[in-house]
Amino acid sequence: MKVLVAGGAGYIGSHCVRQLLAAGHEPVVLDNFVYGHRAAIPAGVRLHEANLADAAALDRLFAAEKIDVVMHFAAYCYVGESVADPLKYYQNNFAAPLALLDAMLRHGVKKFVFSSTCATFGIPEKMPMTEDLPQAPINPYGQTKLDVENMLKAFARAYGLSFAAFRYFNAAGAAEDGSIGEDHEPETHLIPLAIGAAQGLRPALQVFGTDYPTPDGTCQRDYVHVDDLSRAHIAIFDKLATPGAQFFYNLGTGTPTSVKEVIRAVEKVTGLKVPVNYAPRRAGDPPALYADSGKARRELGWTPKFATIDAIVETAWRWHKAHPQGYGDRQR
Ligand code: UDP
Repeated sequence: MKVLVAGGAGYIGSHCVRQLLAAGHEPVVLDNFVYGHRAAIPAGVRLHEANLADAAALDRLFAAEKIDVVMHFAAYCYVGESVADPLKYYQNNFAAPLALLDAMLRHGVKKFVFSSTCATFGIPEKMPMTEDLPQAPINPYGQTKLDVENMLKAFARAYGLSFAAFRYFNAAGAAEDGSIGEDHEPETHLIPLAIGAAQGLRPALQVFGTDYPTPDGTCQRDYVHVDDLSRAHIAIFDKLATPGAQFFYNLGTGTPTSVKEVIRAVEKVTGLKVPVNYAPRRAGDPPALYADSGKARRELGWTPKFATIDAIVETAWRWHKAHPQGYGDRQR
């Protein structure tokens, strides 16, 4: 398949580009480098530098490349920022994919894979989380992702678009060969912050809340390796052959891991101490979020290869150890 990877220079997109190459597909990257990294794109992969909302640029792209499938990773991912500046999120996470879909349909491209999120569920009423739970996001980040899911449903019915929406839990880890990894600026995610604190490159880790109703009082999340996420995106290709088909999958390992357990894994894997400060709860953090990915296992044959937090942290450590400043292309 010739696959347009929108956001292919970002964290999950860049890992997916490598998995596509490994599986014998032809990725083409579309990125505007607001958050993406040029060094994350492998040599020889064609790059189109443009905004998704740039209709003329997308027309040129779709005229030049015979794209079979479009994958969309080009979203902003900061929950707190989405509350403070919702306009930015409705523009980039809703209006931009709308413009991309518009261009796709103008050019007869009708297969789409969407990066959605467990944040579309809000504060779920049961664990582990299956696909059929009610979706009630509690911030504009989750809302814009749900809005795109709903738009895709309407487009499937009306225009024969076939699509899959993957609701990621906590994407984590890095390429096994240490070549690419996680480099957000600003960084807000637990594992890179814990590793950076252990390396002495970042301040002591703030643990947000120790009074949650969980076994050790800290929040539990479901950390899932980026390469495992990427493999699900490729496993869906056959199913997208049916016009108007639509699929939703929750992607996680199914294992709840607490903040304290992540810290212990980082200390074990790195052999370093993570300096910690205990801080109040962060607004909007549910106590526990973990997936029931049985549907993806049954229907896609998807099994996470990185099944433990130690295995995930090992790959992250390989990247951070070799790249203490990340890609080195952003001011920290
Ligand atoms: N967390 C923390 N300190 C940090 C960053 C995160 O204690 O500096 C906690 C956060 O409260 C949550 C978990 O780690 O329970 C994962 O947070 P992250 O921001 O990595 O992902 P999220 O679950 O928000 O998508």
